[in-house]
Amino acid sequence: MNPKIWLSAPHLGTSEEDFVKQVFADNWVAPVGPQLLEFESAINNYLDASTFTTALSSGTAAIHLALLLLEVAIGDEVLCQSFTFSATANPITYLGATPVFIDSEPETWNMCPVILEEAIKDRIHKNKKPKAIIFVNLYGMPAKIDAILKVAETYGIPVIEDAAEALGSNYKSRRCGTFGHFSVFSFNGNKIITTSGGGALISRTKAHHERALFYATQAKENALHYEHKHIGYNYRLSNVCAAIGLGQMEVLSNRIAKRQENHQFYKEFFKDNATISVFEAPDHNYQSNYWLSCILIEPTAQFSVSDLVNYLAECHIEARPLWKPLHLQPVFKPYPYYGGTICEKLFNNGICLPSGSNLTDGDRLRIAAVLTDFLKNN
Ligand SMILES: *Cc1c(COP(=O)(O)O)cnc(C)c1O
Repeated sequence: MNPKIWLSAPHLGTSEEDFVKQVFADNWVAPVGPQLLEFESAINNYLDASTFTTALSSGTAAIHLALLLLEVAIGDEVLCQSFTFSATANPITYLGATPVFIDSEPETWNMCPVILEEAIKDRIHKNKKPKAIIFVNLYGMPAKIDAILKVAETYGIPVIEDAAEALGSNYKSRRCGTFGHFSVFSFNGNKIITTSGGGALISRTKAHHERALFYATQAKENALHYEHKHIGYNYRLSNVCAAIGLGQMEVLSNRIAKRQENHQFYKEFFKDNATISVFEAPDHNYQSNYWLSCILIEPTAQFSVSDLVNYLAECHIEARPLWKPLHLQPVFKPYPYYGGTICEKLFNNGICLPSGSNLTDGDRLRIAAVLTDFLKNN
């Protein structure tokens, strides 16, 4: 049987093990150590901006701390893109706040700035001015960031950029991860680079970085004994994982190039297909890392998303429907939603195809053959 082709598998380089060996040799097997600081510097250098990176145990933890630093608390409302992974919104509820979901626009598939403004006006009218906005650069595609930030500024609401999937993407020649008040990256096993599990909060000020560190390491006050005035969290990244991250940072640009090659491959493959379109950037202002390559099936097609995903699965190729909008998730049903059916339609008609940076030419030939077979018979 053919080996399985994964949607987005970890892709280690040649130096990660050496970095980890050094950690063992120096006995920095803890959530402190020089590799953690070097990993944070490497990210700051990559972003090429005056950013302050705090390496954390996950992207979810980073969103949680961003909301905490923006003083989101019980009873507050946070505006959140509906079309995303649940981890974008879960931390809102950790703080006892309420997510208010916003539909996407069809060009980047991310938060629609027009609906965002309608929602803000309506919430203010209901005497519930939102405390924060979380937009996402989904699948690596930058959102309409200028328009979102403009609306946010008009109403004086701080913004969190969920760039978990967008390390290496650019918006108007500036790196994703540098927009809004805070940004978030994930280094989970399926992301652009991995530390096995991990994430980062990107702050704009040293003070925020230090406050994030404080909360991520149990909120210990400056005293000889353990003194606590705040509830803390155990969210610091392991130094062992940071060492893996140092190796991954060396190959980051290669990983992005490979993902973009996958996108080109699918674009070429589907170029004459009338029922399937490949998701791509609206113009040169949006430079996606193409973390995942996505396709949309015309509603008039004779086959469904599940027909194609199941057929690929039978051939040992992993593909997935797009993210199910959070306002349609049972757990988020009680919360308000603003918009129409843009993200719902994307979910009904879209698929992510294998997109790992370690796909071989052979893998792509196999995917092409299976897709050709399917399209011939459907
Ligand atoms: C992966 C992901 C997260 C969460 O990151 P973890 O490191 O898995 O906690 C958040 N938002 C989006 C859009 C993601 O894809």
